[in-house]
Amino acid sequence: MEGRPAIFDLSLDELASWLKERKQPAYRAGQIFQWVYGKRMADFGRMSNIPESLRNELQEHFRSAGLTKVRQTGSADSTLKFLFSLVDGNLVETVLIPASPDLYGLPADRRTLCVSTQVGCAYGCKFCASGLAGWSRNLRAGEIVEQIMQVESDTGEKVNNIVFMGMGEPLANYNHLLKAITAINAPWGAGIGARHMTVSTSGLAPRIRELAEQPLQVRLAISLHGATDEVREKIMPVNRKYPLSELMDACAYYSGRKKQRITFEFILIEGVNDHAEQAEKLSGLARRIGAKVNLIPYNKVHGLNWIRPSEQQQSAFLQILRRRGVDATIRREKGHDIDAACGQLRLQTLRYKSFAGISEVR
Ligand code: SAH
Ligand code: SF4
Repeated sequence: MEGRPAIFDLSLDELASWLKERKQPAYRAGQIFQWVYGKRMADFGRMSNIPESLRNELQEHFRSAGLTKVRQTGSADSTLKFLFSLVDGNLVETVLIPASPDLYGLPADRRTLCVSTQVGCAYGCKFCASGLAGWSRNLRAGEIVEQIMQVESDTGEKVNNIVFMGMGEPLANYNHLLKAITAINAPWGAGIGARHMTVSTSGLAPRIRELAEQPLQVRLAISLHGATDEVREKIMPVNRKYPLSELMDACAYYSGRKKQRITFEFILIEGVNDHAEQAEKLSGLARRIGAKVNLIPYNKVHGLNWIRPSEQQQSAFLQILRRRGVDATIRREKGHDIDAACGQLRLQTLRYKSFAGISEVR
């Protein structure tokens, strides 16, 4: 960690014990977080109900921000993409998906934020830009939480749904992820219900089981992308470590433990996983786990040769699932844009960096 931690890295208890060491009353922790989270105002100097000496001490020990916005882009359907620089100069992306009734079947007033959990990704899925560019480091809890805070203060509107589908494999950064989820959920924190958070994973079976033991009702999405070991292994190296049988057992465990339906995400890639046999096998898996299926037509990544199947082929695949009684949807146009944002922006980012000299932003 470079220098001071950010205030967002602390839980309420941690802040309270830091205050206790300084002989400050415990209620100060609540007052400080009321500014930080309640008012979205982390500037210690402006915390008017905090004694000046304590404000100075806070300033010495903690950063009021660990993220600096360096770029923002909007897309045709007003999806907003934010690029943040971390204190060590690394870049992460966060994507705001505004009211979108057709997305994940959510109500129209939903404002979803797609949050990154790592800089890059070590899992190397063959179709994914995050994987292509490799892994640099885990995000700290505060860096995960702050993406929400910054977008909210920037847009002046609250986010009410979080998907951990940005850069990185959330379950490979398990402790920081859990700490972030706790702060996002807590009444002293961002106050977003656990059912309004979705962790997406490439299938780290032991971690899925661990998450199942947590009391919070976070939702789980599995990046399946192959309905047999043979197909999945071709595009997802993680499948060698946690083959489908082990992954499905972990999914069943999660579902049972949380009394919750999980989602299988399935990118359709022409000639790889878009044939009828895969649809049939996928139906079997989804029915066994009671999972919903979210089909995602593949989004072209520069430098990779995979292609998206025709709409006809996509529909045929969907029909097989539906005929077998599986609750399945295709993420069409809006999703198209969103997928371009979630999980595959790093290459664009790095290219942008070399075009615009962003490495100088610190
Ligand atoms: N590492 C986690 C979360 C980040 S990826 C995971 O793999 O689940 C978020 C989602 O974007 C995953 O479902 C991933 O498979 C998907 N994705 C990655 N590259 C994509 C592409 N080119 N087109 C469509 N979806 C993609
Ligand atoms: Fe990593 Fe997820 Fe991309 Fe795979 S799909 S490389 S796990 S970010």
